[in-house]
Amino acid sequence: MNGASRPPLQLSDPALLSTRAFVGGEWIDADDGGSCEVTNPATGAVLGTIPDMVAAETARAIDAAHAAFPAWSRTTAGERATLVKRLHDLLLEHQDDLARLMTAEQGKPLAEAKGEIAYAASYLEWFAEEARRMYGDTIPGHAADKRIMVLRQPVGVVAMITPWNFPSAMLARKIAPALAAGCTVVAKPATQTPYSALALAVLAERAGLPAGVLNIVTGRDARAIGGELTGNPKVRKLSFTGSTGVGKTLMEQCAGTMKRISMELGGNAPFIVFDDADLDAAVDGAIASKYRNTGQTCVCANRLFVHEAVYDAFADKLAAAVAKLRVGDGLAGATDQGPLIDAKALEKVEEHVADAVAKGARVAAGGKRHALGGTFYEPTLLLDANADMLLANEETFGPVAPLFRFSSEDEVLALANDTEVGLAGYFYTRDLARAFRVAEALECGIVGVNTGLVSTAVAPFGGIKESGTGREGSKYGLDDYTELKYVCIGGI
Ligand code: ADP
Repeated sequence: MNGASRPPLQLSDPALLSTRAFVGGEWIDADDGGSCEVTNPATGAVLGTIPDMVAAETARAIDAAHAAFPAWSRTTAGERATLVKRLHDLLLEHQDDLARLMTAEQGKPLAEAKGEIAYAASYLEWFAEEARRMYGDTIPGHAADKRIMVLRQPVGVVAMITPWNFPSAMLARKIAPALAAGCTVVAKPATQTPYSALALAVLAERAGLPAGVLNIVTGRDARAIGGELTGNPKVRKLSFTGSTGVGKTLMEQCAGTMKRISMELGGNAPFIVFDDADLDAAVDGAIASKYRNTGQTCVCANRLFVHEAVYDAFADKLAAAVAKLRVGDGLAGATDQGPLIDAKALEKVEEHVADAVAKGARVAAGGKRHALGGTFYEPTLLLDANADMLLANEETFGPVAPLFRFSSEDEVLALANDTEVGLAGYFYTRDLARAFRVAEALECGIVGVNTGLVSTAVAPFGGIKESGTGREGSKYGLDDYTELKYVCIGGI
């Protein structure tokens, strides 16, 4: 099959592209019929529209989830596992279509989109299995006539707000444990990338998920929808992935009804290359960690610290690798890097590079908009970065690798930890003792030692400091969707 010659959105299963929202088992429009457009960031072409919903429709979705909760929470773990596993199977069955849809709305290379569908599916498989292990406990009692039981119960209706950088995986990562635990869901995907979320709902319906268990609302007024999701007392938990600023606002909004929260927010990942590192492995890791998804991931290496003894050698090797990256429309041929998501993202990258250059950085590769136009930006490598630059203190969220120089382990640890966020951190060394020391000293929730790729459903993903709270994936992942209930049985 020659994918390159086909029109971008010719799907084998066209029904996967839904332009309506999903509430209470019905595919619906906004109350006032309003809609907003979804565009392809690689071409600017309009892909279609979505309902432009506000608080009223969101409240009805919450009602639907609330009404569905009692029956869903009483299903057996085995019944829920079967449905979630079926959804996993359907994702993989439709992997190619789902990937094309994602590349069209998000811009990432098609190979990365396919990888993301498999990654999203892996969370469904994992939590389908974990559903059966939602064990409680019995505790030796404090009195001879009493027995103590601990039950784990689903928290209730869970609201989810997800970002555009991983439109399928960020939702699957929340939906999978929620459904497995017996929670019902109202999700709001990012306005830029709603179709991947709606496609998940199409497949959930086909998998046989009961009406109201999964609801998806769409719209451009994130404040209105978010206000309802965080203020409505029927919602018992909010799970959010996005920027730290919005996360703080949502956390405040949740305080009024004391909702449980999971927050997966921004990072400012250090990527440290020690003088004893395997430089070729470090270059591979840096390319994977920095340029994947055009640098638009919350675990992207943001600050690359390189020991002075290997600085020039590493810079040369990385520049050579960066020069090989193929930039283009992910649906028009093999690529390594797509466009940035929108004009605002492009402006931020330009601002960071201009600021760095004004403060003494040297451009070793890229450094400007790509000849393809639109929101394409050249894969960029900057040398002589320093702590005064914007890119040292904020996520660039773009394909820009700034190289900082350091001379000792203590110095680089202080620099790496000198940030209010703490999601991921990476370092390369062949010294075993240093591997332990640095892994333990880095102030972040995820550490990659001699690897730039750390994401997997089997490990706990999440940050410390202002990068958020809660963990997604792994044997700990169900905890965020369950409450412990202590039952004391007396008179025995
Ligand atoms: P980014 O800047 O990367 O788009 P955001 O944190 O702004 O990250 O967006 C992540 C998600 O949060 C998106 O679904 C977006 O629509 C939503 N969002 C943004 N602002 C608000 C808000 N005030 N209330 C609720 N949701 C919001």
